[in-house]
Amino acid sequence: MKSTMQESPLLISRILQSGTLLHADQEVVTWTADGPRRTSYAEVGTQSAQFAHALRGLGVDGDQRVATFMWNNAEHLVAYLAVPSMGAVLQALNIRLFPEQIIYVTNHAGGRVIVLDNSLAAPFSKLLPHLLTLRHVIVNGPIPDEVRAALEAAPQIEGVHDWDTLLAAQPTTFDWPVLDENDASSMCYTSGTTGNPKGVVYSHRSNYLHTMQVSMSLGFNQGDRLLAVVPMFHANAWGLPYAALMVGASLIMPDRFLQAEPLAKMIEAEKVTGGGAVPTIWTDLLRYLDEHPTDTSTLRTVIVGGSACPPSLMKAYDERHNIEVLHAWGMTEMSPLGSVAVAPAGTTGDEHWRYRQTQGRIASTLEARLVGPDGAEVPWDGESVGELEVRGPWITGSYYDNGTNSEAERADAAAKFDDGWLRTGDVGSLTPDGFLQLTDRAKDVIKSGGEWISSVDLENALMGHPDVLEASVVGVPDEKWGERPLATVVRAADSTIDAAGLKEYLGSKVAGWQVPERWAFIDEVPKTSVGKFDKKVLRKRYAEGDLNVETPA
Ligand code: AMP
Repeated sequence: MKSTMQESPLLISRILQSGTLLHADQEVVTWTADGPRRTSYAEVGTQSAQFAHALRGLGVDGDQRVATFMWNNAEHLVAYLAVPSMGAVLQALNIRLFPEQIIYVTNHAGGRVIVLDNSLAAPFSKLLPHLLTLRHVIVNGPIPDEVRAALEAAPQIEGVHDWDTLLAAQPTTFDWPVLDENDASSMCYTSGTTGNPKGVVYSHRSNYLHTMQVSMSLGFNQGDRLLAVVPMFHANAWGLPYAALMVGASLIMPDRFLQAEPLAKMIEAEKVTGGGAVPTIWTDLLRYLDEHPTDTSTLRTVIVGGSACPPSLMKAYDERHNIEVLHAWGMTEMSPLGSVAVAPAGTTGDEHWRYRQTQGRIASTLEARLVGPDGAEVPWDGESVGELEVRGPWITGSYYDNGTNSEAERADAAAKFDDGWLRTGDVGSLTPDGFLQLTDRAKDVIKSGGEWISSVDLENALMGHPDVLEASVVGVPDEKWGERPLATVVRAADSTIDAAGLKEYLGSKVAGWQVPERWAFIDEVPKTSVGKFDKKVLRKRYAEGDLNVETPA
């Protein structure tokens, strides 16, 4: 029997149209050196129409790629909405990748037009001659003449345009086309610590369903004011921009002001109710809030993801600032939301905290399984450990290949899939009710003798020490055991704790055989382009004898 339901494609244009109509008075607030700049969702709707007309005028009439090289701001939101809605494909470039990676991903995606923040224009102008498929550059904000001249000098570029002037000349409504919901809406490249970054192409349908899940799982409501720190150029901005439009929440966009002090100002001045960022951002903010009285009374819940959240960070926010830290897990390949750690109703005390500290319960629309080293599935018993595999409507089924990928890249990409499931590369356990506890990235697990040591467990224990600001643990070669943990620690200011003291402390938290023999104090844990601990750099520094390693008795 066929249903009687209407067939209506799930499109980004629906999010754009309903969000800017039903929630016309909500706003996107962009932080600037002079304080907040406000744009209502009604204006976002108008600008989206104008931007789409402008792009048509620049030759975007099909599924051409439109790239952005921008911070989180109102104009980036317009691009997020207008580009997919008109049938083109948005590629938000990660501004923190190495130049050669930016060149690779832009050429690989093949964008025709790029939108650029003026604050990034000068460094970008050096890359532009290498971005071979681009024809037009649109600059958001004023730039000096010499920077404009540098952009115009790139031989393939047909025009450099000013955002405001370009949009002002356009009609204020647009006839958004009815697209196939399975068409591409946007693409993101993985941050790729080895080899070239891999492209993931989202569809309208995958984004739409993901947005509904994000809105539901993260508990957003109309009238919320969300501080979107997670960059729009990383992992689809966790779906926050689309979710905000869908539920009618305002967005507070920090632009380039990502330090703790301006973030604290935004929270106070803009009465922020929620937000999303990686643990390092919340760690910096905590330190600031502890020392500088700030009115955070409107802030109920912040979402943390991207790397494991130290339990001590969660407790500190909870106890000292009455702010709930909600732990979530995901990946670029998963749009990115996979799980959210809302403790089951009725749990209290230690049991409640145990749930909160996991990576969370797998989103109900997704399927998950754990695969052991022998390729067999392991049970969901909260103990057995395996590599997590997932599948579902917002999980990628392959990586983008524009025909130039090498055989080796194709083989590498194919190895990420297992009979229709995405291999996440994350290792952990699942409880019978679907709570995921990650112990490591597959490549970061420390294999000591026949046993596995979780680097994340050691880091979390160390970061629970009041004298430790940050700690990262990596496996290093060991003659006897094959591999042993090396702890690298950033001491809190004024702390004089030594390796022997930390070793003793750790011995009271984890099994004795897991306690590292090797210790090094460093000024800062190196971070990747998206703010995660860069363990590759630590391993390299160790291998090159670049760390001052102590081996306390
Ligand atoms: P990316 O695609 O750059 O967002 O990276 C995805 C990877 O980040 C995942 O496969 C995990 O290894 C890691 N990750 C994301 N969220 C978490 C989390 N809550 N806890 C631990 N690791 C995480």
